[in-house]
Formats: sequence, C-alpha cells, structure tokens
Amino acid sequence: MQNSILIISRDNHYLHDILKTEGISSNCTDEINQQAQNCGLIIFNNFTFDEKAITTLNKLSTTKKSIIIINPDGKMKKLSSSIKIIPFDLVKQIYLLNQGKPAQFDKNGVFRASSTSIIKRSEKLIPQADVLRKKLVEIIEQNLPYPLPKIWHLPDKKLAGAIFSHDSDEVTDEELYRINELNTKHNVKATTFMLIKTGSKKCWQSFQKSGQDLQLHQVYFYIPFCPKKFSAFAAKLISNKLTQKFQKHTLSVEKKILEKLSKKKISGVRNHGLFWLDNSTIPLWMHKVGIKFDSTLGAVHDYGYLHGTGLPYFLRMEDYTRLDVLEFPLHIMDYIYLENKEKTRNMTKKFLDNALKYNSIITFDFHHKFLKGKILDWYIETIGYAKKKNILIESMTYFNDFWRKRLNLEISNIKFQNYILNYEIINPNNQNTDGICMTIPLTFKNKKLKTIKYGNKKIAFDKIKIDNKPYAIFEIKKDTNNVCSEFG
Ligand SMILES: [Zn+2]
Repeated sequence: MQNSILIISRDNHYLHDILKTEGISSNCTDEINQQAQNCGLIIFNNFTFDEKAITTLNKLSTTKKSIIIINPDGKMKKLSSSIKIIPFDLVKQIYLLNQGKPAQFDKNGVFRASSTSIIKRSEKLIPQADVLRKKLVEIIEQNLPYPLPKIWHLPDKKLAGAIFSHDSDEVTDEELYRINELNTKHNVKATTFMLIKTGSKKCWQSFQKSGQDLQLHQVYFYIPFCPKKFSAFAAKLISNKLTQKFQKHTLSVEKKILEKLSKKKISGVRNHGLFWLDNSTIPLWMHKVGIKFDSTLGAVHDYGYLHGTGLPYFLRMEDYTRLDVLEFPLHIMDYIYLENKEKTRNMTKKFLDNALKYNSIITFDFHHKFLKGKILDWYIETIGYAKKKNILIESMTYFNDFWRKRLNLEISNIKFQNYILNYEIINPNNQNTDGICMTIPLTFKNKKLKTIKYGNKKIAFDKIKIDNKPYAIFEIKKDTNNVCSEFG
C-alpha cells in the first residue's frame, strides 16, 4: 500500500480539536521522517519551510510516498513539483466566520458584539465553519493509509446537544425562584446569566443548592441602545483609552461581587445587550480576568449559525493567537419569537433537527421576564422536542468542562498492519474520562470492523452515522490506554 503524508502547517487547533491525533510542534526533520514511517499524518504548529525541512520533504517525495501540504502559500518555491499543495488557510477562514467583522452598529442603531453580515441570511441554517472543517477532515481521512480514530466531540455517544440559558434582565426574586423550580421539575440544568443588580444574595445561593448553573450577565456602563444620531459620539466615547480602562475594571468588579455574594466561582459571562467594545479587546479582557467561557456572540433579532458554527470555540486575537476563553455562540433568542410566533416554533424544531444533522450544540436564550404565557409554552415544547430527539440538555458549565477535559486527551502511536489498528490514548493529567467517546470507521478498504479491544479485553460498541457514513462509537476507559481494532 502506498503511504501518503499530509502536512498541515500553521496553528492547527481547529483540526486538532476534531482529529485529536498526535501533532508535532517543531520543525524537526527527524520527526518528519519518523512520522512518515509510522502513520503518515503530520500536523505542525506554525510550520516554516526551512532549507532542512524542504530537503527532507523533497527526498521523501522521490520515494513512493505521496505528500500533500495544506498551506496558505500555494506557490511555495523549492518544493518538488510532485508534492501537492492545497493553498488554504483554515485558521483565517474559520476566524473570520467565528468572530465576525469588528463590532459595529446594527440596522437598529444598536452597538453589537460583532457584525454577522459575513454569513448570508439564506445560509444561516448551515454551520459553514463546521462544514469547512469536516470537508478537510474528509480529505485527510481519504488520504491516510489507515482508518482514522477520533475522539468524539459530544458526551455520552450523543449526536447533538442543547443549552438553555436565561438572562436575568428586569426580573424579581419571585420570578427567578419560579423559573428555577420549573427547570428543576423538567430536569433541565439551565445556565442563568445574572445581573448583579437583579436577585438577592439568598436567591443566588439557592441556585447552587438546586444544582442550576449561575454565571454573570455583565453590564458595561455604556448603554448599547443608543439613538442613531448619537452613535458617532458613542463610538468616540468608547474608543477613549480612559473609558476602556474603566470598562475593563467593571468586568472584574462585577465578577468579584457576584462571587462573594453567591459563594461560587464565576467562570462564564454573557454581556448585556450582546455588547462588545470590539472583537479583540473584550476577549483579551475576559482571558486576563479568568473568564473561561462566554456566550455573547449572536443576535437579538436573528437566529441560526450566525457565527458559522454549532460548536464552542476558543476566541482569538486579531493575529489568531488563541485565548483561554471558550465561546458558545448564541443561536436563538426569545426576541425573535415576539416578532413571529408560529414561524419561530416551527423553525426551532427544524433547527434542532439540523443540530442532529451537523452534530451541533445549540444555545438558546430565554429571558426570565418573558417566560410566561405563550413563550413559556414554546420553552417547554422545545425542551420536550430536544428530549424526544435524544439531544443532550446540559448547562454551559458542563459543556465547557467536557470540552476542556476532552482536549487534554491525545491519540498517539498509531500503527496499522494486516488490518489491525493499534493506538494509545494519552491522558496526561490522569483525569476522569466519563462520557468521553471515540469513533472509528466501520469499514476500511472494503474490510469490516470486527472487534475492538482494550488491552486484551473485547468491548462492545454502538453503530452511528456521521455525515451519512457508518462509524463505531465506544467509551474511553480511564484505566487502559491501549486500543486495538481488527478489520477483516
Ligand atoms: Zn441583558
């Protein structure tokens, strides 16, 4: 069988998150050679094609190996013409889709986190960044001389997830208790983004006791709902250095107040009015203050995959540096229901069906203040529909913890001989792996997967379809790291 090598240069995280396959972070020619012998998939962080690397690659291309490089520079001088180059920059493409254009005033004169105009309205039910990444993974899978094992991005073999969140604007303690009880009754662990001016200390503490997720709804002193004629003035005011410094402090102050009074560490935020100063400053502030996840990117009067994805992603700086803040893009807010009730009900179901198709985690925002009458019916109907479709309902904190736990795992030492695939799962922190699953293709080169073993012990697996292709899915065990799959 002809061995092929695939090299992905530049920050690989977007693919790495999906593939979870061993990557190399330096430009070591020995490692190129070693990896080429082993499995043929090389992922580099910020690969630069220096003389030594080019010589090694050119030499390898004269053997029977085929080499494919994914790099923004399609021309790449000095590389042998038999090396295929795909001129593509995944990081840049996904960044543009995910984080959108810089913050600006929307059509109603409201200053929003970022413009989502990069996604066409007719395409908002397609998670474009996810599709892009999946296509690239498909190319990789097809070019590898072995069936590619991957760590599944959803917990408990689920095909989709849903997060129900609430913003506490203009709400009384009584209302907060009522909705907390309602969620507990429906077995929904919701995430409440609490304004420090709403709810009492007692109320905040009761959220913890009932197992619900309490996080911060942050307010900047700047009011996002600014009349159009003042928008130029407002823009000038918020770009002032002193104002910015003050705003930055409001985040850490509000976080500290809520932490002290609720007796809980706050790790997540959603900004009131979906307001961001711009799409690079605020992520950096959050990163510095120790915010671990955010759910500000979305729209009030729109719905869908407006940031190109149904998955959480780490926010980045303008130079694409990855920050330690996981963004859960907001997909549907209740304001859209107020505009068109019947259409929104149907669209919600369609969107949840789509979540199963694209394996997404959908984030809803239902304000406490609206949760009564018809909106409450729609809320309960949506919970019921998600449950009926076996979509996992969990809090944002749960998904944040899961996402990070999963990213700590690595697949390593892949060997494929006589249709037997061996590999190791590296768990550097010896962390709990509950709910983390793994997939491998059910067939490879017309051979069917027969058995999966952990160490010497056979284990059972389920069959699922991802993008219409059949895969085996099984749970990762903490105590064993050797996995062996036999095809025949
Ligand atoms: Zn709000």
